Amino acid sequence: MVLFKNTAVGASALLAATGSATPVVHYPRAANSSAFTNSNGLKFTHFNQSLPNVTILATGGTIAGTSPDKTATADYESGALGINKLLNAIPEAFEIANVAAVQATNVGSGDVSSSLLLNLTHTLQTTVCDDPNMSGAVITHGTDTLEESAFFIDTTVNCGKPIVFVGSMRPSTALSADGPMNLLQAVTVAADEDSKDRGALVVLNDRIASAFFVTKTQANTVDTFKAMEMGNLGMIVSNEPYFFYPPVQPRAKTEIDVSGIDKIPRVDILYAYEDMQADLLYAAVEHGAKGIVIAGAGAGGVSSDFDTAINDIVKNKSIPVVKSHRTVNGEVPTSAITGDAAEYQIASGFLNPQQSRILLGLLLAEEKGVKEIQGVFEKAAAA
Ligand code: ASP
Repeated sequence: MVLFKNTAVGASALLAATGSATPVVHYPRAANSSAFTNSNGLKFTHFNQSLPNVTILATGGTIAGTSPDKTATADYESGALGINKLLNAIPEAFEIANVAAVQATNVGSGDVSSSLLLNLTHTLQTTVCDDPNMSGAVITHGTDTLEESAFFIDTTVNCGKPIVFVGSMRPSTALSADGPMNLLQAVTVAADEDSKDRGALVVLNDRIASAFFVTKTQANTVDTFKAMEMGNLGMIVSNEPYFFYPPVQPRAKTEIDVSGIDKIPRVDILYAYEDMQADLLYAAVEHGAKGIVIAGAGAGGVSSDFDTAINDIVKNKSIPVVKSHRTVNGEVPTSAITGDAAEYQIASGFLNPQQSRILLGLLLAEEKGVKEIQGVFEKAAAA
């Protein structure tokens, strides 16, 4: 059941934080009751002044999924339970942090939109970054597109506080459901001082990964999120996070301020294969795409006909085209972009097609020209 399909809740309706003068209180957790509401409207059902304050923005996915069949890991309903039901399974979370949960939406992640992501960015900025009483945030999300949302938030929210994405591969009703442990670990990481200044994080299956690098590598199993070349940032053992290295940011990262942006232009991804037809490219442009990303074969490869069409639209329609790779790993170097319209095209470097789409959309929202866009993507290219 979709409760709020593609409906982003406004910033003022989303919040949580704590006043420093508030006395220590321990309220029993009860449905529809609130122990403490902060100035941004975030409702904490437990409040202990000695604990860090974390908000959860819930968006749905398998972690909130249900099925009458306890063995179902493929056929179930995503986004069926609200965040408070999920929290009821992990009372341990309230020993770690004061938690204020907000149901931003409740959808399968295929229905997450750029307008929801913009709204989440604005909400995180107001309710977490700008509030000195807040330690961090958790975003529950379907795993299918989790990496796209995490990359978006990593690019647009950069106040040093941990923003932790979490999902699960098994619905909440499954035998050995992975959601409760993942959610507890995500709250723990969001509340941990050591998680600061690392960009947005992704926590699943006892691993902590950088939102800038991680990708879903397996459609069915719980060991799916990996940064294959770059590795994990850390692990969680007996609910203790351990980071392997001090805080560091990816060298290719560009931070984008979306405070003045209310819409992301459409960017389409076209997948390369033998017999690929150029009319798909023209159709995307005719239907409103303002930028194109190619999931190229190997290092950005397409057919000769398709390359001719790319040259045509970058030169004659001023639509930027980023060449990326359909392989899970590797880069499209700037040197791979050749031909008479090479100066209008962009190599993705190490960014995969879905990361490239997010970044190109944000740069187009900023009204950047092709040279500036090339400069941003070049940071992700070795050659
Ligand atoms: N279809 C689900 C979603 O992305 C898959 C998951 O959450 O694991 O919403």
